[in-house]
Amino acid sequence: MKRVDLHSHTTASDGTFTPEQSIARALANGLSAFAITDHDTVAAFPHAIEEGEKYNVEIVPGIEISSVYEGKDVHVLGYYMDYTDEKFLNRVEELRNVRNTRNQMIVDKLVSLGIPITMDEVRSRRTDKNGNIGRPHIAQVLVDKGVVASTQEAFDKYLSTSGAAYTNPPRITPAEAVQLILDAGGVPVLAHPGLYKNVELARELIGVGLKGIEVFHPDHGPEDEATYGSLADEYGLIKTGGSDFHGIRNGKVFHGDLGEKSVPKQTLNRIKELAGK
Ligand code: AMP
Ligand code: ZN
Ligand code: FE
Ligand code: FE
Repeated sequence: MKRVDLHSHTTASDGTFTPEQSIARALANGLSAFAITDHDTVAAFPHAIEEGEKYNVEIVPGIEISSVYEGKDVHVLGYYMDYTDEKFLNRVEELRNVRNTRNQMIVDKLVSLGIPITMDEVRSRRTDKNGNIGRPHIAQVLVDKGVVASTQEAFDKYLSTSGAAYTNPPRITPAEAVQLILDAGGVPVLAHPGLYKNVELARELIGVGLKGIEVFHPDHGPEDEATYGSLADEYGLIKTGGSDFHGIRNGKVFHGDLGEKSVPKQTLNRIKELAGK
């Protein structure tokens, strides 16, 4: 039976594949449907959905919102928001602006560490000149300049939460991100909770309307799957999953390959029911 991948990125944010390229890969990898969940943008829609229809691959409209909780990044996924709603789009534009402020702050910090880097250089690493800029684009500049040998080294040394250039401006909280998605008629899901190691945060978000937990993710081990699977069961939440596909960077699949983590079609159907689709 064909499977569904509920987490992927395109050139609308820090993925390196266009929606068309992702559709081809989904077909090759035996998926019947996949979600596009770009960081703080829904720019891929409706175009991506129309492209999917041409090739008989269902594209699920999604987003991955960056929020901050106790100084750390927490990602909230949303599915089936009304991506034409003006109020929603205005709020997403605000997220994009805060992201740009954050990017500049990281670049400034790198410069203060003696690494010559400019926002123009970072911007030029995008395939889509309107795409949202993320840390992987900054990492790419550091690799290209020979400051580090790999994207992973760029994160480990400079860009991860414990990295030397990590910083965040005031940002939306995870609870606000859940509300933002609910306000737009979408289904909010906590992304890769195994990365935060904070079960209390998950419980708090369930209290404000979280509908699902991403149990299956390339960065989750069996323990994370067990912990968050049983938490989802305890509250009757949807157990989602996906590869977090980001395309190919420096010759390597960055994060999971499309379909590497997946869920059965019934999981998608439950999300659709909740969204009234
Ligand atoms: P941003 O949305 O700009 O904060 O960047 C987030 C993206 O950076 C994630 O989706 C990952 O692709 C990548 N990323 C974050 N932390 C790490 C890490 N520790 N190692 C490798 N990639 C990471
Ligand atoms: Zn990303
Ligand atoms: Fe994420
Ligand atoms: Fe992601």
